[in-house]
Parts: sequence; structure tokens; C-alpha cells
Amino acid sequence: MGIFTNHFPLGLGTTRFPISGRNDTEGFDRSVHLVRQALDGGVNYIDVGYNYSAGMALPVLREALRQTDRPISITAKVMYGQDQTASDARKRFDLYLRELKLDRMFSFTCWCIWSWDDFEKITEKGGIYEGALRLKEEGAVDHICGSLHCPPEDMLRIIESGVFEGITVSYSLLNAARMRPVLDLAEQRGVSVAVMNPLGGGLIAQNREYFSFACGEADQGNTVHAALRFAKSHPAVDIVLGGVSCEEELADSVGVFSAPDPEPPAKRLNRVMGRMSELKGFCTGCKYCEGCPQGIPTSAIMQARNALLFEPIADYNRQGPPELLYDLQIFRKLFFDHDWLPGSGESPCIRCGRCEKSCTQKLPIMESILDTYRRAGLSGYTMESHTNRLKELLHGKGFRRVGLYPNGGFASKIMELYQEKWGCPEFEWVLFNSDQKMQGQTADGLFVHGPEEIPELRPDMVLICTYKFDQEIEDSLERFRKDGIVIKKLHRSGEVPWIF
Ligand code: SF4
Ligand code: SF4
Repeated sequence: MGIFTNHFPLGLGTTRFPISGRNDTEGFDRSVHLVRQALDGGVNYIDVGYNYSAGMALPVLREALRQTDRPISITAKVMYGQDQTASDARKRFDLYLRELKLDRMFSFTCWCIWSWDDFEKITEKGGIYEGALRLKEEGAVDHICGSLHCPPEDMLRIIESGVFEGITVSYSLLNAARMRPVLDLAEQRGVSVAVMNPLGGGLIAQNREYFSFACGEADQGNTVHAALRFAKSHPAVDIVLGGVSCEEELADSVGVFSAPDPEPPAKRLNRVMGRMSELKGFCTGCKYCEGCPQGIPTSAIMQARNALLFEPIADYNRQGPPELLYDLQIFRKLFFDHDWLPGSGESPCIRCGRCEKSCTQKLPIMESILDTYRRAGLSGYTMESHTNRLKELLHGKGFRRVGLYPNGGFASKIMELYQEKWGCPEFEWVLFNSDQKMQGQTADGLFVHGPEEIPELRPDMVLICTYKFDQEIEDSLERFRKDGIVIKKLHRSGEVPWIF
């Protein structure tokens, strides 16, 4: 029996409440109503991050909890990266208690574990996990869990470590073959599992016909119901998290889990896994193609290219063109699942044919590899493109001072790459951020300034080093151009981000 056993099979995700911000009173009331509807339907597990739903998830939950006395298990998620130390973990956990007006919580989730390296940092002496252990000793939290976003191989090691009583992982028809060993091990080790993204981030609901193979007779042709039941069908899975944005969607999901699966779960699991291998053009992630003599991560690339089977989805504040949207999906997956960035757009494949011979789906791997490198070259997702872009923007330009706006992952990457390629820059780096909480802090050993200090500091160039909101930032900096300050975006139009 695990920590999630005896919970209602549908858990409430809180990322998609219909609320735009603090001043959206109508959205607030509607979101509170949604939570009440979920709780009245039997939902008793809530997954919440302090920044979810435009930062309003905690106030919404506080109000909904005030209106009910049902016992609810809530997990407080503490993000590695935003928080680093045991004391950061405590401060963040206290914020949850304060915001929700609670004096204890069901679980503490070490959130955003993207790699084994992250896991080691979280569990090192003085790290987030130590903070969680102290809270558990004090009785402020019952259980310690992890939210794993790392490759399945790292998940297996993390489960083996035995530090988490429960884990939250992405699991759906899209990654079922790769995730099956993870769920099998969790079951063996008695680690409870809550599943996120049961509809593959919306891809399954948007491509119901393609995924209709998942429907058994009892699903009556409803692909979404079949996909939700599939996510629950592995014996390790106790909770399927559903993010809800409207009453109808919530009522539908509650309905699916209010009755036992009409098909025995073990039969469903085996039926769907079997049908998956019959899908045309779909990479199941079985990995039989691995072992490329050129070190090409064939199965990771082929899985990422599953995105090409469906309509492209607008993302990262980009609405098109379709090829860019596909590239965003493909390289995002390769970035997160495999930390993959090719040296250049030239494919190193020597066409030995070894991968294709082993492919259970008979996929055209060699052509796909060639096309993936070509795409990477065209969309600026190669080490060569990154280096050339920095050279074009910064190297040897006679600058005295270069502003990076905002500080963060992109800025760190730029400074690191510049140093690696050309050594100490001949100019001074200056960091800017419009977030007042960042101003006055240090990042990468540099002081962070507000944008109103730009005229006084007079950088020769301000480089906009973010992706999603680069246009908004460029518009906000337009006024400094008249002072002769060069304002440039790091990413050209049609390119994917340097980091995701
Ligand atoms: S054909 Fe190319 S990708 Fe496949 S194993 Fe050989 S070198 Fe690697
Ligand atoms: S063998 Fe084929 S189906 Fe299996 S991971 Fe490789 S490309 Fe995908």
C-alpha cells in the first residue's frame, strides 16, 4: 500500500484555472467554483505550484478550502533552481502554509528534477531534501515526494535510491513504452505514482482519430476516456492528474473515474500496448534501434519526431509558421529528454543501416536523422549556429559594455559560450531585469540592474536574451535606441530557443 492508495483516481492539477491574474475577480470566482466542483465530485488530491495559474492557484485554493471541510491531500511543490538550500525549502513551504492557511500538509514535492545531477544537488547535505526531512520530523508534512522530468534511465536510479515515497511523472499513450520500466520498478519498490499529462499535453485530445486505436469496446469510441483509463491502467498508478479549465471538462474527467474501468485494467494495458506497435509511422520508443556507431541518439530523435504526425501546436508565444512550431516541439523534447544539441546541421550518419534493420516499426530512420540535422541547422539549434550568432552580435565589435536582458539561463549560457570561444571579453557584461525582486541581487557574480538604469550605465548594446517574450521586451526598450544604444534579440525570426 502506497501513500496515494485510497485517493480518488483523478487528482486536481492547478495549472490551468480560468484566471488571468490578481485583478480578475470573475476568473477567481469561476476557479473557486471549479475546485469546489472537483471536491464535491470526490477529488481529494491536489497538486499545486506557487506560481501556477498566473500565480493565483494558492489564493483560489485557499478560498475553496475555506468553503469545505472535506479531508484533502495537498502537495507543496518546491522547485529546484528557484530554491537550492534546506532553508530555501522551509521558506517556500511556509509560503504554502501561509497562503493556504494550513498548519501542515500531506506531502512535500521536490519539483523539477530534470536529471540525475539535479537529484544529487537536491539530496546533497544542506539541500532541499534535507529541508523536507526536517519538516517531516517536525510533523509539518507527512510524506516526501519527487516530481521527475528526467530521462527514464535517471528515473530508475532515483526510484532505486529509495528517498521518495511517491513520484509524479508524465505518462500517456505517447511515452508508454519508454515509461513502462519506470512504472514497473515503482510498483516493485512500493513507490506511489501520480501521473501528469495523461493526454500528452493536449496532443491526444487534438488528434482523437489518430489515437482512437486506444479505444476498446467499452470506451464507446471516446479517445479521451480511453487515454485517461489507459494512464490509470498500470498497477503502479494511483492518481491521474487532470488540469481543468472549465466545468464540462472537469465533469467529464470526474465521470470517467467515478466508476471502475469497464475493461479490466491489465487487459487494457496489454491491448493498447499491442496496438501501439501497429501504428503507422509512430515511434514507440522501444529503443531497439540504439547503438549507433556515430553516437546519434536514434530513438530519442525518432520519438521527438512523432510530433510531425500531428497538426502543429502554437507554443512559446509563436503562432507559426508550421515548420517552426514542429521544430519547437522536436527540439524541446530532445533538449529535455536527451540534453541534445548537435554540433552542426551536417548529419554524421554514415548510412550503415544498423538502426533501420532493428526498427520494430520499420521506420525510415536514416532519412529522418538527415532531416532532423537539417532542421536543427535551419532553426539555429546547433552549437555552430550559437557560436556564429555570438560572433555576429558581439565579438570584435569594439563594445565597451554589453547589457544582457534579462539575467537567467540564456544570459548565463551566452557568457559561458563567449568565454569558452574567445576567452575573457574585451567588454564588460551588465545584467538587467525588470523584475524588482531580482534587482539588487547578484547573478553569475554580477549585480542585476533595473532597465531604468540603462541611460546611466550606457551599454553599447542591450541583447535581449529570452525567447517567449522577446518582442515585448524589444518594444519596451525601443525608447533607448534614440540614445544610440543598439538593441538586438538573441534569436532570429524562425529560430528555436537556445535553451527551453
Ligand atoms: S544508419 Fe546512421 S543513424 Fe543509423 S546506426 Fe548507422 S550511422 Fe547511426
Ligand atoms: S526501433 Fe523504431 S520504434 Fe523503436 S525506438 Fe527505434 S525508431 Fe522508435
